[in-house]
Amino acid sequence: MNKVASFAKSRSPDRLIVVSNRLPVVFEKNKNTDVWSSKTGSGGLVSALMPVLRDRGGIWVGWPGMRDNEGPLTPCLEKLSEDVGYGLVGVYLSEPEIKGFYEGFSNQIIWPLFHDLPVDCHFRPEYWETYRAVNRKFIDKVAAIRQAGDLIWVHDYHLIGVAAGLRRLGLTNRIGFFLHIPFPPPDLFLKLPWRADILSGMLEYDLIGFQTLRDCRNFQRCLRALYKVRVEGQGQVQRLQATPLSGEAAHGRGQSLRVGSFPISIDFAHYEKLAMSKAAIEKVSRLRQTHGDRKMILSVDRLDYTKGLLHKLRAFRLALERYPDLRETCFLSLHVDPSRENIPEYQRQRVQLEQLTSEINGAWSRPGWIPIHYYYHSLTPTELIAYYRRADVMLITALKDGMNLVAKEYCACHPGNDGILLLSEFAGAAAELQKGALLINPFDREGTAQRIHEAMTMDHSSIAAGMRRLRRQIRRHDIYHWVNSYLQAIAGRNLEDFPKIQDYVPGPPPETQVRRSRIVAPTGESV
Ligand code: UDP
Repeated sequence: MNKVASFAKSRSPDRLIVVSNRLPVVFEKNKNTDVWSSKTGSGGLVSALMPVLRDRGGIWVGWPGMRDNEGPLTPCLEKLSEDVGYGLVGVYLSEPEIKGFYEGFSNQIIWPLFHDLPVDCHFRPEYWETYRAVNRKFIDKVAAIRQAGDLIWVHDYHLIGVAAGLRRLGLTNRIGFFLHIPFPPPDLFLKLPWRADILSGMLEYDLIGFQTLRDCRNFQRCLRALYKVRVEGQGQVQRLQATPLSGEAAHGRGQSLRVGSFPISIDFAHYEKLAMSKAAIEKVSRLRQTHGDRKMILSVDRLDYTKGLLHKLRAFRLALERYPDLRETCFLSLHVDPSRENIPEYQRQRVQLEQLTSEINGAWSRPGWIPIHYYYHSLTPTELIAYYRRADVMLITALKDGMNLVAKEYCACHPGNDGILLLSEFAGAAAELQKGALLINPFDREGTAQRIHEAMTMDHSSIAAGMRRLRRQIRRHDIYHWVNSYLQAIAGRNLEDFPKIQDYVPGPPPETQVRRSRIVAPTGESV
């Protein structure tokens, strides 16, 4: 029996098994010895789940993020499991599996379709086959380690089929699912050739959590295309009784499940503390020395066509044209985090972005002033926090986004209530933050340019009132609140029901590419 299995067996039943595409682990290879070492990430999701996982002898199942021939990772994971106090179980993927499952079905079908971009979808049957095969790998792994009474919590669009596979094997455990990305409306979702399989797979969960009410409603509307649906109850969580209509869904089973909206969040207190740390304050003052008194409009996004980066640049250019008082008094600090670099759409997006940036800089720069400071890099946590704190305005132009944690992190880093959040109304976060943020429609270039100008000329008391409101909302609804409400809904348990881990201190994140709730491994994607 390997160490993870024996560790898991030694604990009580009623454990939590978290299943996600990525393990919350960062691997590093020693260049001299070629030996791999690993450490766990310190993102909000990991911190919030850690007490539950440790107390229950829990297990996290996921892909370690490397090609399966990249090194003997199992010993690293076993050692790390002992250190962190919960099991880390790797599901290894081959190169063709990464291409078909991860880059193919997950990121060239579900990702664009669920973000309202069906024209960017490549509906290739072989991607679907590989997606199913990789889901089966996860299913087999979970089936091999689970015990009666375990609560299984599956995360995100890569693994929708896990519950159906486990049910086929006869498992009766409670199985929950949380979708981190949006759920599309029927006119988009129904374009999916495998729509009936995806819906019948989702129906096998006991509880599905969505980011917003809008996503939850969209799911119900899509379901009604293939099922007769009865909704019971009102409020955050509802019960659905779904009976297949004749036709496509006829082979599906009648099902009862619960659905609800659970907006994910951040470890607010942790961010706030880091923003007030000596390291961050020093970095902020270095940034101030570099930029002087000019106002900083900050942009931090993965390079993804859903983030509206080109829309952002065009709106900023228009703002410079329309409002001469913005010239030489502000600049856009544009940080683009490399992502999914093997996918052609992402490569094209980078070329377009860099061309447009240089066009704008070419047209508008003056001696001693460049309007766009462009960086194609991953910021370390300390750098990111310093930029958040330094920035006068955070500009988020997502064309569609499940949540957008950057919006929440920015607010947590403004203990002095001195920042402005310009937030796309199409980010999930807008549902919660609309009262303190300045909302924008990124498709409306004129309107966005106007909002940029409005932000630049806003008085201190209005800025403080907005930010105070935002911070209050995020502080109350932090990542712990999110985990609590989901666990409450699926298992009637609170985080407080799990003993506090005395020796766990969520220290500053290591200076590796560790993110909130997702870990960047060499191939770059999220937990
Ligand atoms: N992030 C980071 N380094 C960077 C850029 C972003 O660690 O250079 C983190 C950021 O702190 C946030 C996450 O990446 O936690 C982005 O999450 P979000 O929900 O905003 O968007 P996603 O990339 O998940 O679509």
